[in-house]
Amino acid sequence: MIPKISILIPVYEEEGNIPVITEAIANVFSALPYSYEIVFVNDGSSDNSLAVIKKEAAKNDRIIYLSFSRNFGKDNALLAGLQYASGDAVITIDADMQHPPEMIPLMLELWQQGNDVVYTYREDKNQHATGFNRVTSAMFYKVINNLSDVELEDGIADYRLLDRKVVDVLNNLHEDRPFFRGLVKWVGFQQKGIPYTPKPRAVGETKYSTKALIRLALQGITSFSVKPLTIAIYLGLTFSLLSILYIPYVLISLYYGKAISGWTSTIVTIAFFGGLQLMILGLIGLYLGKLFMQSKQRPHYIIKESNVR
Ligand code: UDP
Ligand code: MG
Repeated sequence: MIPKISILIPVYEEEGNIPVITEAIANVFSALPYSYEIVFVNDGSSDNSLAVIKKEAAKNDRIIYLSFSRNFGKDNALLAGLQYASGDAVITIDADMQHPPEMIPLMLELWQQGNDVVYTYREDKNQHATGFNRVTSAMFYKVINNLSDVELEDGIADYRLLDRKVVDVLNNLHEDRPFFRGLVKWVGFQQKGIPYTPKPRAVGETKYSTKALIRLALQGITSFSVKPLTIAIYLGLTFSLLSILYIPYVLISLYYGKAISGWTSTIVTIAFFGGLQLMILGLIGLYLGKLFMQSKQRPHYIIKESNVR
């Protein structure tokens, strides 16, 4: 039996790109000894994306789609698609043609050689991104690698192949607000990274603002490690030890009868420690918030309509 490959495409306001990527994928597979399906997950687009997907699906019975009741974010779209994909391997790819479909044959070859995950990373990092986004992205990977227990390559992309084994494992994780890139690394298995050069978007513009990237960074760090909490403890310990050194100084000053003129030092100390305490309180709050969200057990996404089941 020939293996079946699922191509999973999250869609948020990509009406212009859907026909383009559908055709590109058909072209790639026309020269490959595999059957395939395309899984579109419409992440609450407000443009005509869903209508365009339906039109494509009417012409092509390899296309299945899910449509969310509102925007739930790309990671949840990917998670939903994995539940419905039936292939022996799943390839996740962006709808905007920034991930070159010509790489699919190479990914499949590496899969046949026994790799369970074939992921891609940007070789020429963010050549299409603006200066500020480039800096924040570099910082993001530095921080995440230092603070968390998964090692992410700089510029790792959401363009990857996952073997059925890995898909089944991911389908059984029940994590609130999944951080997909991290999770895929975290599960282990035999993984292989290949470089790629991102292309400019075919149609439309990016949905990720700097604000969204910072949110993603905090999300990435706090969902993979409690190291920031440990840092808070060490910080507290260091300052307590330093203040012990201060005691002899105060006592000696008192003994020699020196008047202690303390206004400036008092204000500086209060301001400094006030800020530090607020920051660490916020940090603890962030983790507590995650626990709160998880305890509600809300679904990760709501499917409004679909052409499966
Ligand atoms: N996307 C999504 N939900 C969102 C934002 C984006 O499903 O809330 C999809 C989008 O349609 C595209 C992919 O995720 O297929 C990557 O989005 P984009 O190109 O805007 O991000 P960038 O390439 O700039 O990282
Ligand atoms: Mg893009």
